[in-house]
This record gives sequence, structure tokens and C-alpha cells, in this order.
Amino acid sequence: MSASLRPAIVSPGGTLEKLEAAVRFGADEVYFGGKTHNLRSQSGNLSLEEIDRACAFCRERGVKTIFLLNSFLHEKDIDGARACIDEVRSFPFDAYMVSDPGMLVLLRECGVETPVHLSTQMSTLNRLAARFWERQGVSRIVLAREVTLEEIRSIREHTEAELEVFVHGALCVSYSGRCLLSRFLSGRDANAGSCAHPCRWRYALVEEKRPGHHLEIIEHARGTEILSSKDLCLIERLPEYIKAGVDAFKIEGRMKSLYYAANVTRVYRQAVEVAASGGDYGAHLPRWMEELELLSHRPYTADLWNEFEGMKFEGVPYIRSALFLGYSLGQGRDGTEVRVKTHNPVRTGETIEAIYPPDGNAPGGGFFRVLEINEDEKSVAMAQPGRVYLFKLDKAVRPDAVFRKRADIEMERDEC
Ligand code: SF4
Repeated sequence: MSASLRPAIVSPGGTLEKLEAAVRFGADEVYFGGKTHNLRSQSGNLSLEEIDRACAFCRERGVKTIFLLNSFLHEKDIDGARACIDEVRSFPFDAYMVSDPGMLVLLRECGVETPVHLSTQMSTLNRLAARFWERQGVSRIVLAREVTLEEIRSIREHTEAELEVFVHGALCVSYSGRCLLSRFLSGRDANAGSCAHPCRWRYALVEEKRPGHHLEIIEHARGTEILSSKDLCLIERLPEYIKAGVDAFKIEGRMKSLYYAANVTRVYRQAVEVAASGGDYGAHLPRWMEELELLSHRPYTADLWNEFEGMKFEGVPYIRSALFLGYSLGQGRDGTEVRVKTHNPVRTGETIEAIYPPDGNAPGGGFFRVLEINEDEKSVAMAQPGRVYLFKLDKAVRPDAVFRKRADIEMERDEC
């Protein structure tokens, strides 16, 4: 397989800054939504001005844009969806992503000829369904997460449509994300993009005559996460999926951090490059796995379908082995000075780690000592989160670096 025919890496663009980081770190395609009609209404999403900037940024770099119109429509939503299409149709997206067939109908009624991808939410699991969607004009099908490798091979033989699968990120315990738990417990509808993730909450038992007396459910030392699933990680099995004929690998995580989007993207980009060019995949795998362990995650599983068969109730605590510190906005007076937008505190004198966009097959980067931190030309002892500082480092760093600090922390709750 030539490098140009390798599967695409499709990365999340939850915000404009995350989208740009994913592109710099190797995404072939990015998916993102506007303020309405996509399934991540809590992830930030892009304003019309940001959509315009995202399209221009991606075009300049030869990266494709997939715009999400993947919420399910009630009768009352149809006019709003039509208005949304009218609002965004002039942007040069490479594809739209839909879940609801009604949205596909609306796009065509509005005269939009842009290719349409079908979301995993439609649970495509077999060749008959794939051919049905192909006949409806869908050019790419994001298969259900529940599909097996064997089923992918069979579907591949029977359809010309491109096939995309999720390779990394959070899973739902519900079937293809169809779940009413969040709506029932918090009023936030998962099928409208507002899931509050109650499956990740900790639960206790209460006996009806003793309200307020919580009986702990003990699954492991820290309590229980009885409803929570592991995270998907297919890096070890990627070559099998490439051989099965998958055209695109999707990374979940529009609500995760910029560091997450950048690092997962670069690891999978390197992995598909090596696999598709016949390189020594096994030799690189430990290094890629190490990088994926340095992301906030729950314990990984390589196979959703078999996960539940082998489940041993060991719990799925949230693991964070590295802290996202910030990212470079560019160089200062020389290579040792870098302007950093911070995400967590950084102190003068501490050692931080930089990761770099893919360049070759090994994740690049290095460790740096922070010699000085300046804000508005004034030296400070500590950089606060969410601001821009000038860092003076002990040696030159790349101007497109993302910074982290290694740690060994088990998180109480999701945090990216
Ligand atoms: S509550 Fe959990 S299982 Fe249900 S949709 Fe949300 S993330 Fe998925």
C-alpha cells in the first residue's frame, strides 16, 4: 500500500485551538460542529467566524474538513436544521456528517451536493445496511463501534462506500451511544449532544427506610464504577484493520484537551504510516503505547465486542499520567524563548516536557528546564492557567511544541 493510499486519521476539533493542534500533529481530516445540530453541544464548538478560519487553516495544509450535523431531529427541529444548513452551506467543507436520515434529506432538499458521511450512531453492522446507505448517496460510513473485524471484512467486500472506524477514545455502555440515562438523571439528552456522562458517576445503594444512608458498593479499593466502560485503544490491532480495508480511523474526544487531540493524532498518524509502508510495526509499538498511556484515560480495551465477555469487575478508574501544561504560540527572541498559553500552573525552575508534531516514526520531544517566566515583560515565579507567558528555557525548543509534566495520579472524575 502506498503512503498516499493509507487510511486517513480523522481527529476531533472540539474548539478552533484543538482543531489547529490536531492538524499540526498529523490529522488528515478533522471533524467539528457549529453551535447547533451536532452531538457534542458541551464541547465548545465553533462560531461561524471560527468555522471560516478552520476551513482556511485546513485548506492551506491539505487537510479535509467534516462538518457535523449529526443530532437526531424531532418534528420541532426540522425548520431549525434547515436554517442551520442555510447558514453554513457556503463554507467549503469536504463532507457533512449526519445520523438522522431526515438530515440527509434536508441537505439534498437544500441543494447541497457535498459528500455525506454517516455517523456511527446509525449502528451500521452489516453489508445490507452499508449498501442501503450507499444507495442513498452516502460516501462514507462510520461503522458501529460494536462491529467485529470479521464483519468489517465482509462489509468491505460488498460496498464501494468508504468505511471509517473508531480507533481510540471513550466508549458508551449503551448500544452505539443510544442512551436515555443522562436525560433521565440530569435532563441532558445524549442524543442531542448534551450527555452528562452519568454512566461515569459513582453509585451507592440506599435502603428505602433509611434515606441518606448510603451503602457503598465495593468493586475495588476506590468504590465502584459499575456502569462505566473502558476506553477504546486499537493501536495494537491497527494493521489488521488496515488489511480489512478500513479507509479512515477516527479518534474520539472533542471534549478532551488540546494535548489529547495532538498526542493521540501524532501516535496514530505515525502508526498508519509505518503499517502502510510495511515498516517494523512491532518495534515502534511500545513507544506508541507509552505515549497513549500518558493521556488521561480509563483502562484501555482493544475490542469493545469482546470487552463485556471478559469483564471481571476490576473497575475502570480514571488514570492521568501526565498533566497538560500548555502549548506554544511561537518563538520569542531566539529558540530558547517561547510564548506559552498555559492550561495548568508552571513554576520557574521546574522541568517540563515538550512533545512535537510527527517527524519520522518516533514521537519527538524532550525535557526542558524553565529558567524564567515573564508576563508583560515582568518576571513571575509561577504561570497561572489560561494566560499567555514568555518562557525562557535552558535550550532551544520547537515553536509548535505542546508541553506536559509527567505524574502518577488517579483522577476522581473525568478531566482532560
Ligand atoms: S450516559 Fe454514558 S452510556 Fe449513556 S450516552 Fe452518556 S456516555 Fe454513553
